[in-house]
Amino acid sequence: MVTSVYRGRFAPSPTGALHFGSLAAALASCVDARAHAGEWLLRMDDLDQGRCVAGMDSRILATLEAFGFEWDGQVAYQTAHLGAYREALGRLQQSGHVYYCRCSRSQIAQAAQRSGVEGPIYPGTCRELSLPDKPGHAARIRSNEREIVFVDRLFGHQEQVLARDVGDFVIRRADGFFAYQLAVVVDDELAGITQVVRGADLLLSTPRQIFLSRLLDYPTPDYLHIPLVFGSDGRKLSKADSAHPVDPSDPMPALLAAWRFLGQALPHVGPLSLTEFWQWAPSAWQPALMSTGVAHD
Ligand code: GLU
Repeated sequence: MVTSVYRGRFAPSPTGALHFGSLAAALASCVDARAHAGEWLLRMDDLDQGRCVAGMDSRILATLEAFGFEWDGQVAYQTAHLGAYREALGRLQQSGHVYYCRCSRSQIAQAAQRSGVEGPIYPGTCRELSLPDKPGHAARIRSNEREIVFVDRLFGHQEQVLARDVGDFVIRRADGFFAYQLAVVVDDELAGITQVVRGADLLLSTPRQIFLSRLLDYPTPDYLHIPLVFGSDGRKLSKADSAHPVDPSDPMPALLAAWRFLGQALPHVGPLSLTEFWQWAPSAWQPALMSTGVAHD
């Protein structure tokens, strides 16, 4: 999609310090925005208060600053968007796409007959029961058989049939928290995001997000998923895993390692300062050089 406006974002969850994988995602999303003379926004994905760590948002912001990132406008917080999530759920319910569900996780695991891309597929037990919207009931989206296709800027053609690959998925959990899948779609719409650049762990979630954005009549952004960083034990690095936080007091080695991890060549000139790196990087950025294979830190 060629748009005159490019608005990208980085959306860390303040559940742990910035690690190498999230640094790479921040770098790719920021440099891609700057290479398109676009805006780059920041959002704290702090919806799941049970997992968020107090003060971690400020720590992540300080680390990003130490690495030379400059974002546009105010930092957004998901917890400030609860009204917008409620309204979106109301619209989806009005248009008949939502039902309420009282099944527990273990009931689902027992009753499920098929597995999808993310574990057991909900067997539809509550689909036709017209259960009320009340505490303890999750809100689920009715999936369908239509194929959802999109072209990722790195991973290329992607397709999913939600009924077959995911099933009826939760958009508000039984404990009352809105699910990430709904929140991210509403957040990106509120911010007018046109380009989503993020880790490939979310590639399989993207069709659900496209489906929701269509049901809500939102424009669909373009997607560029970047390769995941795996630890030497073969597991994906996550923020909850405080094993590899990046060091804000010495940003250049990690920044250049993240740049190399993204498949990008280093400049031919000698050592760069942070300012020089940020002046140079957008003109050198070639997303097609990233590898879709597995990489180790
Ligand atoms: N908050 C999510 C994470 O840290 C990223 C959400 C997104 O980029 O859509 O994994």
